Amino acid sequence: VLELDGIAKGFGSEDVIGDLSLSVRDGEILTLLGPSGCGKTTTLRLIAGLEKPDTGRVRLQDETVAGEGRFVPPEKRGVGVVFQDFALFPHLTARENIAFGLQDWNEADRDERVDDLLELVGLADHGEDYPDELSGGQQQRIALARSLAPEPEMLLLDEPFSNLDVDLRVEMREEVRRIIKETGVTAVSVTHDQEEALSISDRVAVMSDGDIEQIDTPQQVFQQPESRFVAGFLGHAS
Ligand code: ATP
Repeated sequence: VLELDGIAKGFGSEDVIGDLSLSVRDGEILTLLGPSGCGKTTTLRLIAGLEKPDTGRVRLQDETVAGEGRFVPPEKRGVGVVFQDFALFPHLTARENIAFGLQDWNEADRDERVDDLLELVGLADHGEDYPDELSGGQQQRIALARSLAPEPEMLLLDEPFSNLDVDLRVEMREEVRRIIKETGVTAVSVTHDQEEALSISDRVAVMSDGDIEQIDTPQQVFQQPESRFVAGFLGHAS
């Protein structure tokens, strides 16, 4: 569903991504795992269309969305993004937040879609609450529902658990995985936390210095690291 092909991206004189290739399969959850500054967020932004690659191309559903002289803007890519701070609109209720991207749907379909999503994320009784009346985990559920509302082909999650306290993180990892799998959407997430990568992903891509060191199932990556970098990073990260 998603292919990155020989992508390079720099800012000024700094090369952040160098010759990165990656393909993500339909319906899988792939996590980009690596230390701070290795280029994970930049990779996510290249997929979303929030950055343009210097060279290489991005393909989504067999269509080139960046490269070869083409650039499809973020809102036309069919990609939903869940931000680290959830970015809910504080003056809108949970329902209104979820409905935000559905303004061109008719009212009946929109209401039904919002009801289904509130149910999916386990907050059927909280549709009329404002974000500041919801706990961190509940806010994350609403943010996820909002991103899924327009039925994106692909969901991108940038450090989705870093704003939650430790106990809630463990619970929400399972919930986020369940919700993604129930919708069948293809997802790419970004984290520096190996436990998180292990618990939510079908495959993990370990990144270092703008490139992918190893990409495999969580079990393979943890049990058979292919390089000194991967072994060291997994051994030392907490
Ligand atoms: P972190 O977990 O700290 O966010 P990361 O692996 O997601 O790390 P990126 O955010 O992709 O890494 O950043 C990689 C490098 O690119 C960093 O050195 C950062 O300073 C630089 N960078 C990212 N975006 C920009 C930008 N818009 N302008 C200049 N430099 C940038």
